[in-house]
Amino acid sequence: PADIDADLLRRWLDTATSVIEREAARLTELDSPIGDADHGSNMRRGFLAARTAIGQEPPDTPGGVLVAVGRQLISTVGGASGPLYGTLLRRTGKALGDAPAVTAAQLRDGLKAGVEGLCQLGGAVPEDKTMVDALVPALDAFTAALDAGDGTAVALTAAARAAEEGAVATTPLRARKGRASYLGDRSIGHQDPGATSAALLLTALADTARE
Ligand code: ADP
Ligand code: MG
Ligand code: MG
Repeated sequence: PADIDADLLRRWLDTATSVIEREAARLTELDSPIGDADHGSNMRRGFLAARTAIGQEPPDTPGGVLVAVGRQLISTVGGASGPLYGTLLRRTGKALGDAPAVTAAQLRDGLKAGVEGLCQLGGAVPEDKTMVDALVPALDAFTAALDAGDGTAVALTAAARAAEEGAVATTPLRARKGRASYLGDRSIGHQDPGATSAALLLTALADTARE
């Protein structure tokens, strides 16, 4: 069924913004040893701006919500993560077109296009110790769950779990992209902040879909 509509994505944005606010200190802490200690504040600023913009002018399609959030992240986040998440969300939103509601399979196809856009922009591949290490396993788990016949909420829950596992699995990796890559081997032993925030965003989506 086409059970993913603008209302669901607006509720996701509310939940995601609250989660980012709650976890901002931890995200910034993760960005301290292998970055410049701003990932939490970057994400917080971006999501607060997105929530305000969408509250003032609520888009009436799921694609419209994602494009609008992406645009806000690009214009307010500042760090590397802004254009990367912005591209992910804008590409995903554009792929959904102007449909009033989409199926989980359509969302999966949209996310696939979004992740491809992000990878193209940042040049990262899996195991470079970036947000890609949460997003690609999440996409794979989402696809596997849908292929197995799972519904939207169950499939998104599997995706969120895979993202969380992917984020944890960045710890032993050596960073090959972004600021953390400047540290070489000294980036080993720290969980990537962007992979961690990606898992938070997907967990918020799964939680919203289960409500
Ligand atoms: P900045 O590094 O500019 O301060 P943030 O701290 O907001 O930006 O975001 C850092 C996160 O962005 C990293 O943890 C990583 O997940 C992600 N990142 C950085 N560069 C890239 C890249 N080229 N491709 C994919 N993700 C990246
Ligand atoms: Mg940073
Ligand atoms: Mg920075």
